[in-house]
Amino acid sequence: MTDAFAVQGIPIADLAERFGTPLYIYDADVLADSYTELRRRLHPAVDIFYSAKANPNVSVCSVMRSLGAGLEVSSMAELATARWAGAAPDDVIFLGPGKSEGELRACLEGGIAAVVCESLEELAALDRLSGPGTRALLRVNPAFTTKGARLSMGGKPRQFGIDHELLLESASSLRALRNVRVTGIHAYMGTRILDEDGVVQNTAGILAAARELSATLGFPLETVDIGGGLGIAYFENEKDLDLDRLTEGVNAVVGEFAAEHPGCRVIMELGRYLAGRCGTYVVRARYVKQSKGEWFVVTDGGMNHHMAAVGVGSFVKRNFPIRSIDRSGELADRRYTITGPLCTPDDVLGRKVALPEVRPGDLIGVERSGAYGPTSSPVLFLSHGYPAEVLVSGGTAHLVRHRDTVEDLLGRQILVDRPSPAVQPVDQPAAHPVAQPVAQ
Ligand SMILES: *Cc1c(COP(=O)(O)O)cnc(C)c1O
Repeated sequence: MTDAFAVQGIPIADLAERFGTPLYIYDADVLADSYTELRRRLHPAVDIFYSAKANPNVSVCSVMRSLGAGLEVSSMAELATARWAGAAPDDVIFLGPGKSEGELRACLEGGIAAVVCESLEELAALDRLSGPGTRALLRVNPAFTTKGARLSMGGKPRQFGIDHELLLESASSLRALRNVRVTGIHAYMGTRILDEDGVVQNTAGILAAARELSATLGFPLETVDIGGGLGIAYFENEKDLDLDRLTEGVNAVVGEFAAEHPGCRVIMELGRYLAGRCGTYVVRARYVKQSKGEWFVVTDGGMNHHMAAVGVGSFVKRNFPIRSIDRSGELADRRYTITGPLCTPDDVLGRKVALPEVRPGDLIGVERSGAYGPTSSPVLFLSHGYPAEVLVSGGTAHLVRHRDTVEDLLGRQILVDRPSPAVQPVDQPAAHPVAQPVAQ
């Protein structure tokens, strides 16, 4: 367990010392519990797939796979990650609205469980590329809107999936397929759902759509992906899902469906719910200063690694859970705004956070940061690069991703020399020898 200052008994301060900051620490026990707590309650017809997008680190994916989760991937590198993590082809699905021909070919060569097609055009392209027997799921943009999602992805004009209404009129497109077999449907309604009844209603709606489409268009229901999008509580007024209540409702509708369609694989795909709680983003305070009566802690990491905590684009800035990692005791009588090192006023991890008195060198942790951390942040902004990632598993800390170095960042670039005839280039030695790009 992660206590205030340690992960599985290892002091976070020691990890910060050993691996440097800023640092992401993932607790494999918390990761595993998120899966098993859901797994043991969920109807056995439902297979849980982990959405690699949330945290694509291969060791995180490997923990998920070792517990029995399938992997849902959306790019060439994520597909390769699934293979590297040891996922069997039949436990991998590939989705995304803009798959390339190369990605489709890789899916075919890999023999994965299904390509989730997001347009009739893509379905036709897959058919042209594939040999007989290729399985595809149709991603449906349902005719109903989601209840409870913070970011809705269905029921409105969207680039995702095929409108339910359009699909009902697409029998001829499906009949024209020569190689691809449509074996079911997929729907994903949105993310960060914290309303149990909303999930149950979505599931019922998706299963009803699956029945209707399969009956109208005459394809079998071998697989139905009911999406997921389960949330975790981040903010003060939010509460984690009640798993008993959630699974009771979902199991009832899935149970009814499974009785009608024995052998149909029902997939629930989850990213944030599985990975979110296991991670802590650890930064070190560099300067503690005042500006016009407000206290600022300037740390070594911020939105470049943790865009989600910064919440750019949100109407109101709300704080992720933030705490001191090496200082206990009473809260200071002042509040601190925690910022990062970037030259933008957006770089604020937390506003007016209550903490024990902060001194330079202190460690501060942003909790519940295992999902949509660096992977969905502008890690190249101001050229700081990707932070280090550590997975604590079986009481041992493993570095699972190296921190980007200056060489990593510059080595991808190419200098085009363009000497001006008027101004001779000044012969200057590099100011920082370390900044020389490595030879490719
Ligand atoms: C992003 C995404 C997921 C994962 O979403 P979470 O809210 O993290 O569970 C699953 N399926 C699809 C289609 C997605 O786009």
